[in-house]
Amino acid sequence: MSVELGRDEILQHLPIETLESVESVVAEAERIGARVLLVGGPVRDLLLHRPIRDVDLLIEPEAGRSGVDVGAIARAAAAEGARVVEHSRFGTVRLEAAACTIDIAHARRECYERPGALPQVEPGTLEEDLLRRDFTVNALAVPLGCAGPCVVIDPANGLRDLADRRLRVLHPRSFHDDPTRALRAARLAPRLGFSLARDARSALRGALRDGAFGAVSGDRLRREIEKCFSDAAIGLDPASALRQLADWHVLPALEPGLGLPRESLTALRRLGRAIAHPLWRTGRFRPWVSGLDLWLAPQSPALRRRTLRRFSVRGDWVKRIADFPALRDKRLAALEAARGRGAVDALLTGSDEEEVHALYCSAPPAVQRRIVRWAAEDRARRLPVSGHDLLALGLSGPALGRLLGRIRAALLDGEVANREEAIALAEEIVRSRARGTRRAAKKKAPAKRSAGGRRKATRRG
Ligand code: ATP
Ligand code: MG
Repeated sequence: MSVELGRDEILQHLPIETLESVESVVAEAERIGARVLLVGGPVRDLLLHRPIRDVDLLIEPEAGRSGVDVGAIARAAAAEGARVVEHSRFGTVRLEAAACTIDIAHARRECYERPGALPQVEPGTLEEDLLRRDFTVNALAVPLGCAGPCVVIDPANGLRDLADRRLRVLHPRSFHDDPTRALRAARLAPRLGFSLARDARSALRGALRDGAFGAVSGDRLRREIEKCFSDAAIGLDPASALRQLADWHVLPALEPGLGLPRESLTALRRLGRAIAHPLWRTGRFRPWVSGLDLWLAPQSPALRRRTLRRFSVRGDWVKRIADFPALRDKRLAALEAARGRGAVDALLTGSDEEEVHALYCSAPPAVQRRIVRWAAEDRARRLPVSGHDLLALGLSGPALGRLLGRIRAALLDGEVANREEAIALAEEIVRSRARGTRRAAKKKAPAKRSAGGRRKATRRG
């Protein structure tokens, strides 16, 4: 199978903000006789008429030369203000400009010292570079900067697999070398609507049988799991990715007993939709934390903890995710019973974005509406008075905090609308508290006198 692409056809598909930088890289490489190719994911997506997410370029030296300085090409091509980040271990360079990121690599070959470890890399040929990849549909390259039509380079029959919509590995021990490819397949297959080819299934079964997953570090696993949730932004349903892993029996190979309980599926699907089409604007948000909250919630507490350890989840997140089911039950019951927007605000203030998403995805519809209204509107409302304004009323410390909370609730419940009304309410509350305190003191006073009287009486007696 052979496919040709026109130069303009390729350039039109690249993200527009990367065009200028890509053309500069091509020009700089050509100046020293090297060739630039678009490689991997972007070629696959271009041929599938899908939007290209990130641009991966490969530099191939002139015939007869052993290598080129990719960093020097990137630096020469970088526009003013662009950053060039070199990863010497992998021979890759990232060109970062305001709106775009381009990864540039020297063609390289890889060898795995032991299964599951990161590979040793060294300069290699274009063909070696393509044949070290995960799936044949990602082992495609197309030269940029050719005068006429550019022929897609396809040493592993990836074009045929692209047409048949299947993920095929390049050799039977591919999953032994790098078991994280199974997690990549689980993301890629539902995203592209592909299935895992029969020989890839059997290669995966072999890797599972030989315990290859045990050799992968927790950090590498967690990074792949993180992508199952962050890729929801580009249309992946995280539940589908995890379901693939469950169907392929990969989950118990990550941690014995780990599965995908039916109870988590609906919540995970909802999370995918909330990430793809945000219902409220978010600041910093780590989708994987909400994802693990929801995925692991129905599992036993011991399995939750073991899984978090296996994925090398660290710091406060461990307790947060492990304790999520208890927090969820308490919070959702209170949110359901809450009377008014102020009460909802008091329950959710202080929750981070990860917690709000996980609660939203676990909630019944009526509570979901409350959460969305709070996240999209109420939480950003500012009080028309400050603590400083209230100092004049003679309050300080926790009493001042409580009063501010009371005014905030009144604002969200529509009882006060502006500064004057807020201060009037504060004064009224302080006055009524003072009246209450005086009344309480009066009630106590006679009791004290009579006690004193009794003491005197006793002494006299
Ligand atoms: P996406 O659209 O998600 O970016 P992609 O295929 O471009 O998909 P990347 O993670 O950007 O995925 O990786 C770029 C390329 O590097 C892939 O197309 C693949 O050829 C290769 N690759 C990435 N991870 C592996 C791996 N674990 N083993 C072999 N090749 C890999
Ligand atoms: Mg990519």
